[in-house]
Amino acid sequence: MSAAAPLDFDLVVLGGGSGGLAGAFRAAAHGARVALLEPGELGGTCVNAGCVPKKAMWIASELSAHLALAARLGFDVHGSLRLDWRAFIADRQRYIHGIHGSYLRRLDEAGIALMPTHGRLRDAHTVECGNATRLRAGHILIATGSSPRRPDVPGADLADVSDAFFNLCEAPARVALVGGGYIAVELAGVLQALGSRVDIFARSPRLLGHSDEELALQLQENYRQQGIGMQFDYRLAAIEGAPANLRLRDADGNASEDYAQVILAVGRAANTAGLGLEDAGVALDADGNIVVDARQRSSVAHIAAVGDVTGQSTLTPVAIAAARRAMDRAFGGQPEAKLDYDDIPTVVFAHPPLAAVGLTEAQARERHGEDVHVYRSTFRPMLQALADRPQHSLFKLVCVGAERRVVGLHLLGDGADEILQGFAVALKKGITLADLHETIAIHPTSAEEVVLMR
Ligand SMILES: Cc1cc2nc3c(=O)[nH]c(=O)nc-3n(C[C@H](O)[C@H](O)[C@H](O)COP(=O)(O)OP(=O)(O)OC[C@H]3O[C@@H](n4cnc5c(N)ncnc54)[C@H](O)[C@@H]3O)c2cc1C
Repeated sequence: MSAAAPLDFDLVVLGGGSGGLAGAFRAAAHGARVALLEPGELGGTCVNAGCVPKKAMWIASELSAHLALAARLGFDVHGSLRLDWRAFIADRQRYIHGIHGSYLRRLDEAGIALMPTHGRLRDAHTVECGNATRLRAGHILIATGSSPRRPDVPGADLADVSDAFFNLCEAPARVALVGGGYIAVELAGVLQALGSRVDIFARSPRLLGHSDEELALQLQENYRQQGIGMQFDYRLAAIEGAPANLRLRDADGNASEDYAQVILAVGRAANTAGLGLEDAGVALDADGNIVVDARQRSSVAHIAAVGDVTGQSTLTPVAIAAARRAMDRAFGGQPEAKLDYDDIPTVVFAHPPLAAVGLTEAQARERHGEDVHVYRSTFRPMLQALADRPQHSLFKLVCVGAERRVVGLHLLGDGADEILQGFAVALKKGITLADLHETIAIHPTSAEEVVLMR
């Protein structure tokens, strides 16, 4: 094959993660000839260094907490309750390999040409592979994801980023997590439950700045009870020491204690470097994300971008949904297809989990002023109460108007991750408080609190 004879496709996809795979499958289902370029493992961040291995570790840490509760409740739980990390990680990775295999089979069945290489744009219709093969396509989908940022301080390279968490084969004795967002909160909770002693250093005045403040404060209280240290308004100035013996220095010159591991979770940056975007005329915003319109079109109409590389609601299901709609538009005869980015439900897999959909109380007050009505329920779920543990759940409903339309639902507590999905449908459909009250409670559950709040 000569470089002068590019291979022709209807669609070339850059990135075989959540968004890229979903876009490739949907386009192929509409009959398009598709090439998918992925230099790493199929599944991208979510499958390999995000949602999936993270949730596996969260399950392990929940099991650990439940074993401790079982022991308090009279179960004869002998010996150490510590996790055999290596055994668990072997199971985790076997599960992940299964996902890789399933993607490979599906790509094959769909007739999608998988190219294990990175790609870059040569012009608005040409993608060049790592081995210099050129592909021409009527449409290009960019789904190259994002990577962890490092703060611009001396010694930042001594620390790890979240990717390194997934290479751990045991709990480091002392861990510092730098950051107050969901990744820092999730990793801190897991590590603490699985045997590390963890301190969080957050620049913000509290954890989870995007979450409802009351729930975030309750979660902080839960984390304190679990022994996690937290420093807020923390200004990191340097990371010092040698690997496995690191300390943080703040802007006032104060040194922290020593940590076996420092994990940075201070945000992520779009993977756009080396993509040749300038050659194709694709515009970036000030943060380096690809600018897209409501239909995921970049500044070049037939080049779409989805997922983390756009910086919009950086979650797997969002990347998938945006990619499918973009491909329905490009190849499925649905010119109006687009994703509604409002009321996207989210879960922070903390201990306990925090699930939310819609507006926080503060956002609702900003938008609706005085006409906001808040209902809350604080309670000890039965398991925690039976074991006489202090962990409380906090559920909160945010309503607006005389009809009390539900615009926000925020759940912190055991089971919240599984409870929210159905209520997210209801909120999207515009339910009111009266609709909740008309629904018969399921007793005894935590979920029933949602329909009983007054
Ligand atoms: C620790 C952590 C936990 C998370 N937990 C959750 C969660 O619980 N739930 C949730 O919904 N989301 C979670 N996320 C976010 C989620 O992983 C991302 O939003 C999602 O993976 C984004 O999908 P994407 O397709 O945009 O990018 P990715 O899935 O990252 O895929 C991008 C792919 O593009 C490839 N690529 C890069 N450059 C090129 C190139 N030049 N050519 C070809 N390919 C290229 C990369 O190798 C990569 O495989 C988590 C993220 C992290 C880091």
